[in-house]
Formats: sequence, structure tokens, C-alpha cells
Amino acid sequence: MDFTSIRRELHRYPELSGEEKETASRVEDILKTLEPTKIIRHVGGHGILAEYVFPGEGPTLLFRADMDAVAVEEPTDLCPYHSCHPGVAHKCGHDGHTATLLRFAKHLHEHPLPAGRVLLLFQPAEETGAGARAVLEDKVLEEYRIDKAFAYHNIPGSPLGEVLCRKGSFTCAVVSVAITLTGKTSHAAEPQNGINPGAATADIVREVLRWNNTDKTAEDYFLATLVEIRVGEEAYGVSAGEGVIRFTLRAKTDNVLHQHTRRLEELVASICEQTEGLQHSITHVEPFSANENDKACTDIIREAARQEGLAYTELSQPFSWGEDFGLFTNHYPGALFGLGAGENCPPLHSARYDFPDTLIETGAAMFYRMAVLSIQ
Ligand SMILES: [Zn+2]
Repeated sequence: MDFTSIRRELHRYPELSGEEKETASRVEDILKTLEPTKIIRHVGGHGILAEYVFPGEGPTLLFRADMDAVAVEEPTDLCPYHSCHPGVAHKCGHDGHTATLLRFAKHLHEHPLPAGRVLLLFQPAEETGAGARAVLEDKVLEEYRIDKAFAYHNIPGSPLGEVLCRKGSFTCAVVSVAITLTGKTSHAAEPQNGINPGAATADIVREVLRWNNTDKTAEDYFLATLVEIRVGEEAYGVSAGEGVIRFTLRAKTDNVLHQHTRRLEELVASICEQTEGLQHSITHVEPFSANENDKACTDIIREAARQEGLAYTELSQPFSWGEDFGLFTNHYPGALFGLGAGENCPPLHSARYDFPDTLIETGAAMFYRMAVLSIQ
């Protein structure tokens, strides 16, 4: 069984979040040959859970890989196994994460642990933040008392195979917000007869951007990024009647992020009050909890890296992106770690990014060591 070929096959047929049907079926076919105790399908959508039960009493460990791709067009000259699906490609390396977890299954099949239980979760819809929630709401996991949960993400820009981790917040809490302002159009010559959201829009944007504290060493690090701002339309005779503002907000902890979303609600309400009749609504989309890495789990990752002879970097700051494994570290003691994808590897979600195949063996060896260390 050649896991580089498996990864490249997954790469050829990428599927967007929530649509990982074919990917899941490929995963299931390979898993069947690796004889887990049980395979459960349709976990939180197209998720697959494989269970390996070992002879002795021991902890239940969960290892997770994500399976979804992103909406990016892959250049056809990038690799011979380029995406067959227009506008969709594995530009976050989830094809590699999935292949790694399958490789780990082969380790478990060939070298069973003396004790405990290992759950392998092939999770759908990580990119939208919906997959982890759907899996946890699925109740399948309620059958188990999970003692530790682990996952990794490849990290372009860091040396190939280097292990990156930290205890506490590893990735930021992130949420996107859409603020809709609804007033009333009127003739542009008589804006006083309408309700124009322009002034409120400008005030909200200016004030929210003032909250930014981009010092990543600060506990109250907070970054609001303006994503879209739109008021009215291209009709010069019309005073605008509605507007939309979209921000993505991020903070080191769920708590700090929550404080700012509450503060935003109060701000929008008080600014809208200054324009009589102006209505507003706020929706939150794609929320990602911060990954709060457990100390004991982080220690296991560091020790596994040492035993594997891999360089280990203790990060001083969390990554500013979100990863929906954060919901797992909210539920169970667990940790997410990074594996360097190489200094020259193009950034995640960029068109020329491709997962480095050597990380499949590195990641699977790390997972196996971590499992061995966890049952001791
Ligand atoms: Zn990713």
C-alpha cells in the first residue's frame, strides 16, 4: 500500500466542505483492508470513524484528520496529479492529513498497541468550521469516554518535518460577522426623506478598526479585518437605503473574542440609534474556537518528536488562523500541533501550494509514538 499514491489520488478528486462523499468512500475502502474493529459512516455528514480496540485496559485516544478541499483553481502545470474538479483543489493539505491518518491505521494494524482504544476520525467540513460541530453533535462520540484527542496541521514556511506546538492557545478563536443596516431609499436630492445608513456604516468601521491590538504577545490580542463594505448601489439619483459590513474577528482566546462580539453588538446598536429609523441585524458565520492545548498532551507531542528525532519548536504565540479542532480541545483534553511543510512551500490556500508527501510518514510515526506514550 503506497500512501503517496493514495494522497495523490485524493488530490485529483477534491471535494468542498460538506460534499466529501467520494473522499469518504475512498477512505472507507482503504480502511477496510486495515481491519479496524469497527467502521462508522456518516459521522456529522460524510465523516468516517474507525475504531481499533486493543487487548488491555487503557485510555481511549482520538486522532483526527480533515478531508475537505477549498474553492481555488489549481494550475494544471503544477503536478501530474492535478485536480480534476474545476475551481476546487486541496490547497490546505487535507489530502495529506487524510493520507497520514490512513498510514497511522496501517501502523496500528501491523503493530497493535498492548492496551487501550484508538479512534480515527476522518472529519468533513473543517474549512467552514461546521464539521467539528456536526461530528460532536452526532452523538456517535458520546458512546466513548475520550481521554485524549490529537490532530496536526501542516505549516508552510517552517522547516520540513519540524514539530511546532505550545500549551494553551495554539490557534486563534475566529468568527466572521455580517452587519446588515436597513434604512429607506429616497431621491438623492431629498435624503432627508429617506434613511441613509452611510454615516452609521462609516462610524462602525472606524470604531471597530480602532479596537485592533495587533501585539501578538498581548493576552488581549484582537484583530478585526474588514472584508466587505457596501452601501446603496450605483444609482446616482438614489440616496442609499441599505448597507452591509463584513468583518472577520480573531483573538487568542474564546473569551476575548466573545467580549469583542458583545462589544460590537452594543456599538452597532448605539450608532444605529443616532439615525432615526435605521434597523440592523448581525449574523455570525464560520466560528472557530481557539485550540486550547492541554499540558499533558503537549508534553506527549514534545516527547514523541524527541523520540522520532524531529526538531521541536515551542511557539511563543498562537497562530492567527482558526482551526475547528478547537471544538475538540474544548470538549476533551487534547492538542493540535504543526508539522513544518518546508520553508519554500507556498502558503496554505494559494494556487501553487501542494502537500509535501514526506509528511505522511512523519505524521503517522508521530501519531504512533503519541499513542504509545499516551497508554503508558
Ligand atoms: Zn487546513
